[in-house]
Amino acid sequence: MPIHRSVKTLLSKVAWHAYNSYRKGARYRSRFSQAAALLDAPRETIVAFQKERLETLLQHAYETTPYYRELLKTESPDISEIPPLEKQDVRNQLERLCSEAFSQEQRIKNATGGSTGTPLTFYQDRNYWNQRNLSVYYFDRWAGWNFGEPQLIIWGAPADLKGDEHWKHRLNNLWRNQYWLDGFRLTDEKMQAAFEWMEQGYPQTILAYPSSLYQFVTFLSEKGLTSRWQLKGIIASAEMLHLHYRALAEDVFNTKVYNRYGGREVGLIAMECAEGRMHINCRDIYLEINSPNPYTEPGEILVTQLNNYAMPFIRYRIGDIGCLSNEVCPCGNQLPILAELLGRTTATFRTRTGTLIHGGYFTQQFYRIDGVSQFQVIQETLKHCVLKLVINEKWTDATRRHLVQGIQRVLGGDVIITIEFVEEIPLSTSGKREYTISKLATPVND
Ligand SMILES: [Zn+2]
Repeated sequence: MPIHRSVKTLLSKVAWHAYNSYRKGARYRSRFSQAAALLDAPRETIVAFQKERLETLLQHAYETTPYYRELLKTESPDISEIPPLEKQDVRNQLERLCSEAFSQEQRIKNATGGSTGTPLTFYQDRNYWNQRNLSVYYFDRWAGWNFGEPQLIIWGAPADLKGDEHWKHRLNNLWRNQYWLDGFRLTDEKMQAAFEWMEQGYPQTILAYPSSLYQFVTFLSEKGLTSRWQLKGIIASAEMLHLHYRALAEDVFNTKVYNRYGGREVGLIAMECAEGRMHINCRDIYLEINSPNPYTEPGEILVTQLNNYAMPFIRYRIGDIGCLSNEVCPCGNQLPILAELLGRTTATFRTRTGTLIHGGYFTQQFYRIDGVSQFQVIQETLKHCVLKLVINEKWTDATRRHLVQGIQRVLGGDVIITIEFVEEIPLSTSGKREYTISKLATPVND
């Protein structure tokens, strides 16, 4: 790596540490070491840690939230007997789920448009975010990431940046030593520019949506562009990593793709190791499989978030299906293994000019929309989209305009959008949860 790039990496590393010390307190480095030590610990230590954290959380939930006080009836219930928390409960019981121990100002609002098809608003606290970031730092290092080292990010641009926010976003990218390629709207020009940056920027890792990554490597492979720089690894997150996505990306960059599984509601749930197993993030997450035999029969994944005391998520039905494995991983890490993860799929839409639009763009339009309980966006033809909606009492004409304009902004102002109000969004024939569908896409099977 040329000297000026090494200097930039060094400066960015210093900036990262300054930022973390400012945001998370001067002791964050020792907290990071403690977090890493636990995630590297023997199984007995992990099990004991989880038992203690779970008991404390249940007691806190019982004592300080109206919802759990009524539901649990005791401060030390048997977790397996607690009814799962549904997305509908989060929507309908939002205030009752919040802890009375946190003031309005101490809550941090977050939302998901939902690759899972159910838009939700919820709250997290400062400690949740600190712990979540420590976990991301720890697990991303499995894929070769480190503070300050250059990274290419292929991710949806933050929604509706206004005024100064553009500058903030740029400034963040600068000091973090990141290059951001908008994964929602990948054009040939932008992909070409990102490739040229890679040749000069010497990224160590790529962080990407699997489907955007696939689009990028398809472009590179069709153009015959091969990177002269060796990446340490690629982190794929936020949707299903199909086998053909992984195969092409690993081939084009001659490196390994690491699958990272999580959700905005609960943070990082599991991460793939160098041996290709998904290890569960037991420091933040207590994970159960709703199945008579979680080791042989896949079932719905129930997630308990161990750090979000502002609004406890206990046995939250996140909407994905999985199975556990009891094998001992050759990588040496003793965190339990999540096998056969079946999750969210995202379609890629096409415009009349040939631009491809990531399905995440459409789900992002549902962020902080209160009037829609469930949705499905279907591209029927280049000129016609169907929006299937399960609405509630907060639906207004303004919501309708917001959604129509959001879709027309990328697909074209003259695209006809038919809204169908339905009772529920059915599962697809394959049983998969599909909330964005494009009938123009060429189906590819793994
Ligand atoms: Zn492993």
